[in-house]
Amino acid sequence: MNVHIITIGTELLIGDTVNTNASWLGRMLTTSGFQCDQILTIDDRPADIRSAIEHGLAKASVTIVTGGLGPTKDDVTKSVLYEKFNAKPVLHQPTLDHIKSVLSQRNIPVSESNIEQAYVPDQCEVLFNKRGTAPGMWFEKEGRYLAVLPGVPAEMKHLTENEILPRLERLFPDHPRYFSRYYKIAGIGESTLGDEVIPEIDQFTNGTNLNVASLPGGGVITLRLSVYARDEKQADEKITPAGDYIENQAEEHIFSMRQDGSLAATVGELLSVNDQTLGVAESCTGGYLSNLITEVPGCSAWYKGGVNCYSNDSKVGLLGVDEATLNHYGAVSKETALELAKGAALKLNADVGVSTTGVAGPSGGTPDKPVGTVWVGYYDAHRHFALKLMLFKDRKVNKQRASVITLDVIRRVLSGISTMPYGLQPEYAEAAR
Ligand code: ATP
Repeated sequence: MNVHIITIGTELLIGDTVNTNASWLGRMLTTSGFQCDQILTIDDRPADIRSAIEHGLAKASVTIVTGGLGPTKDDVTKSVLYEKFNAKPVLHQPTLDHIKSVLSQRNIPVSESNIEQAYVPDQCEVLFNKRGTAPGMWFEKEGRYLAVLPGVPAEMKHLTENEILPRLERLFPDHPRYFSRYYKIAGIGESTLGDEVIPEIDQFTNGTNLNVASLPGGGVITLRLSVYARDEKQADEKITPAGDYIENQAEEHIFSMRQDGSLAATVGELLSVNDQTLGVAESCTGGYLSNLITEVPGCSAWYKGGVNCYSNDSKVGLLGVDEATLNHYGAVSKETALELAKGAALKLNADVGVSTTGVAGPSGGTPDKPVGTVWVGYYDAHRHFALKLMLFKDRKVNKQRASVITLDVIRRVLSGISTMPYGLQPEYAEAAR
């Protein structure tokens, strides 16, 4: 079975309204095991609505339409339905009663167009919309199904969950289920991952219904392996060869297999296992790193705190950076990053200290230290090093990337991984050489 989605509305086409109905429906259907293979967005024009519905009825087991049902003039979907199904309007009394009760609660008089909403084609089954005034409609034509839902997202969701999905389960009891496995990956670019680390991944997807999606975001990559299968066992059989390949090839870059896994959560788990704590000193990231850390519930068990040391004074006064270091090497330097990381560990009484110091941009760069130059420092009882990152021109992106890379540095050290993110080379402190 396959599903088509048609979303109607000029506001969707001109970009005034983000088409959240399409994305929500696509995700809901997919995760419920119903394959959505087309989403069409069209104008409120009768001819377009007619041809989209005809196409859906010809090509899809089920077509779901949203929008164009309300009491406004441009809501022309219903008139197309009368024509298409050769139907007559009939009054749906429960809907009229509901409309009257909703409007009287708000002291709004019932208008002609409100009453109009309670008329439906006599060929449909009404999907009672207790969240709004426009009823949903369900049609069957020669073994194909058409659901017509209101455009208001909350109403569309309510009817999908309570009316559409239960019907699809009844009509297609043997439909496959949808299963996914996730690999969360850090410290490598998306193209390097695809071209160099898992170049053979297509051999697992060609000729199968296994889908591998690479979803970059927030400085990390989520690889999602998904299949339609009868049950979990069959899904595992289909996913495991590709999963094993990814695990073997990308091992050191995988930080979680949870869909909602975060680098900070992984770092927290690693610290907790070893009964260790973390302190941070943030200059260019301005608290972004601490924010990522404190997103993790229960982080007070391992996170001692962070110092937002933006000025030289705070670097010296709060973290014990030597003034001579700042004068000689500057705030954005390996030496300062090293002293900040050590200061974070010692001043905050933590086992691991990390630091960030850099030129976030958009101004402030020099030929020696262009915008995007960031030093990350790391300190614990056994290691003391710094890494030089050459990031981007965008301030927000730089703060985010520097924070994420710092977390990945901690993860790699605590996991005993010898490589650093993006193949960066650690530069060790003199005393630790
Ligand atoms: P109404 O009674 O408001 O006329 P309707 O069923 O006719 O309801 P529309 O008029 O198309 O639906 O849209 C109602 C509201 O829902 C509008 O605010 C519209 O922007 C929003 N909406 C419609 N379609 C979508 C969509 N695909 N994604 C997100 N919002 C949508």
